[in-house]
Amino acid sequence: MRKIAVLTSGGDAPGMNACIRAIVLTAEHFGVQIIGYKHGYNGLLDQEYLPLKARNVANIIQRGGTILRSARCSSFKTEESAKLAAKNLNALGIEALLIIGGDGSFRGACHLAKHWQGQVIGLPGTIDNDIYGTDATIGYHTAIETALDSIDKVRDTADAFERIFLVEVMGRHAGFIGLSAALASASDQVLVPELCTDLNTEVDNIVSHLQAAMNKRGNCSYIIVTAENLWPGGVTNLAQTLHEKTKLECRPVILGHVQRGGSPVSQDRLLATKMGAYAVEQAIAGKTNIMVAEQNNQLLCLPIETSWQQRKTLDPYLVKIQQEFFDITKQAEHVV
Ligand code: ATP
Repeated sequence: MRKIAVLTSGGDAPGMNACIRAIVLTAEHFGVQIIGYKHGYNGLLDQEYLPLKARNVANIIQRGGTILRSARCSSFKTEESAKLAAKNLNALGIEALLIIGGDGSFRGACHLAKHWQGQVIGLPGTIDNDIYGTDATIGYHTAIETALDSIDKVRDTADAFERIFLVEVMGRHAGFIGLSAALASASDQVLVPELCTDLNTEVDNIVSHLQAAMNKRGNCSYIIVTAENLWPGGVTNLAQTLHEKTKLECRPVILGHVQRGGSPVSQDRLLATKMGAYAVEQAIAGKTNIMVAEQNNQLLCLPIETSWQQRKTLDPYLVKIQQEFFDITKQAEHVV
């Protein structure tokens, strides 16, 4: 193995830089050259790349975002694009391509592999944690921490004004950030796609729980964590509906893209570092069409299609205790 390339694709996630650093340092350790493509798959099509050495990745482990930049590239789905990418990779003598991104980026890797003889290896980097086969994705723990920090702050105001706040977090298809942030912040309710199947029933549930909380606790703060894109008209609309039904003031707070940024927490730096080093070792060992993953603190390789062919489910124990805590309000004096 003489030359490996790396790119970051899809939504950026804290820890991508830590991952790039580990890839570069491990490659250098084994005497392998590293090329970094810029702007996701766009860089492959436009031959926008730079050689990466240890000095290029100094002082980046603590930085959010990605030094290679990230981007979507809808044109990459065409056959011509995959062929062009293959031609460009061959022109540079690249033998393996490491893709740090989410399941969409992994689909892109498979698409490329149909037209390219080199090895493709996916590294799960997305705040959503929605990649089957790995306990966590790079960026997920930092995103929980960021959401948690904001919810704690919202709670201070909610308490001071005895108000209801709806906090919208990222995760339109997966409730990992929502459930974890809600539990860790002692929020009163969590609304995520996996647990909200019937929205009309859900509104009735929210209203009756809210009223029970007000009866038991008197005027109090009340925090609902909700995933984005769950409600028709968004969280502002839901706040209005709750206001109409309860006559209580409900304020929406949309956390948005702040959840993608920030310095990665130690869990993400370590996961990214381990996965980056491991991916280079797997490339040197000749593996292809795989994603690297971690299960129970053990690194492993899985077929890359696993990431989207099976749906990752929420931790059933977290779901159970969230439900139990939720039920307490209806039964007895509730203490957060
Ligand atoms: P995140 O979930 O964090 O946003 P992601 O990798 O899932 O990350 P996507 O926007 O779904 O983000 O995909 C990133 C890029 O991967 C796309 O812009 C496109 O370039 C490529 N891609 C996605 N799906 C395919 C596909 N079916 N075929 C080829 N390329 C694809």
